[in-house]
Amino acid sequence: MKINGKTKLYGLLGNPVEHTLSPILQNGLASELGDNLIYVALKVAKENLVTALKGGKALGFSGMNVTLPYKQEVIPFLVEVDPLAQNIGAVNTLVSIEGGYKGFNTDIDGLFQDFKQKEIELRGKEVIILGAGGAARVAAFLCAREGVSTIYLLNRTKYKALEISDDVKNRFPDCSLKVYSLEDHGKIPKGKYLVIQGTSIGLSPDTEHVVITDTSFYRKIHTGYDMIYQPAKTMFMSLVEQEGGNAYNGLGMLLYQGIKAYELWNQVTISEEVAAKIELQMRKELGENE
Ligand code: NDP
Repeated sequence: MKINGKTKLYGLLGNPVEHTLSPILQNGLASELGDNLIYVALKVAKENLVTALKGGKALGFSGMNVTLPYKQEVIPFLVEVDPLAQNIGAVNTLVSIEGGYKGFNTDIDGLFQDFKQKEIELRGKEVIILGAGGAARVAAFLCAREGVSTIYLLNRTKYKALEISDDVKNRFPDCSLKVYSLEDHGKIPKGKYLVIQGTSIGLSPDTEHVVITDTSFYRKIHTGYDMIYQPAKTMFMSLVEQEGGNAYNGLGMLLYQGIKAYELWNQVTISEEVAAKIELQMRKELGENE
């Protein structure tokens, strides 16, 4: 990579950012496409968030990603927000426009694209989502947008799932959404479901944990998608596979949200061939063999 006077700047705003894969992803894309840009992780303290945004703009950063804990906090300080991102209530990608930044949510595109890639169908299907944080919220909006017949939303703190349900119904009034606490999972009718695991339970280093331990729950799963990608095979995925289901981790979602951000920043379309190369680099960084 040759950095010169024309190098465009991009960054990731978050805290912590030390373990992020985004620089590998974005600089990998730039290198594959021969684009003259650089992407760096920017650890920003909460009290400096607004200053960082203004500073980024003043220094000519063409775009940024936003990660925990700022995906919601950043919204009031943007000059424009994409309508779907506004509905979801979270942005993860900023594009420099006149007077500041416009916010987008490419997490939803990332999840959608990874489902497409893995041939996981949503339209007319019944889906169970575990969790009611930012990741589960994105999954709920995607399922509603793509015509899932019924969404079962389960969370430890039930009122947070009810909030998501209200927000989703506000945007997609015809969507059927049922909310339960985690221990009420047995109330979900018999059948085979796609389950999207959107809690932080099972994330490295606490890899031995799952939010639901009852094996009868896993018998209801034809496909289990864990949004966590570290470890590569989570306990949730192992339990799904033990009961005969297909299981995937969330690395593809991460890959494709980054690709969508890159496409927004640079007005390009990234091929599946390039995506596959970048995924390999990310896997290497995670210490995976394949
Ligand atoms: P949040 O902090 O917003 O939400 C955390 C969720 O986990 C909440 O539903 C919370 O429940 C639940 N939870 C936490 N601790 C427990 C516990 N002890 N028992 C039961 N439930 C618990 O996180 P995010 O939604 O942003 O992220 C969730 C996961 O998704 C993370 O592990 C992250 O790595 C992954 N992720 C992956 C992405 C990808 O691109 N693949 C993108 C974004 C996230 P409660 O509401 O009750 O606290």
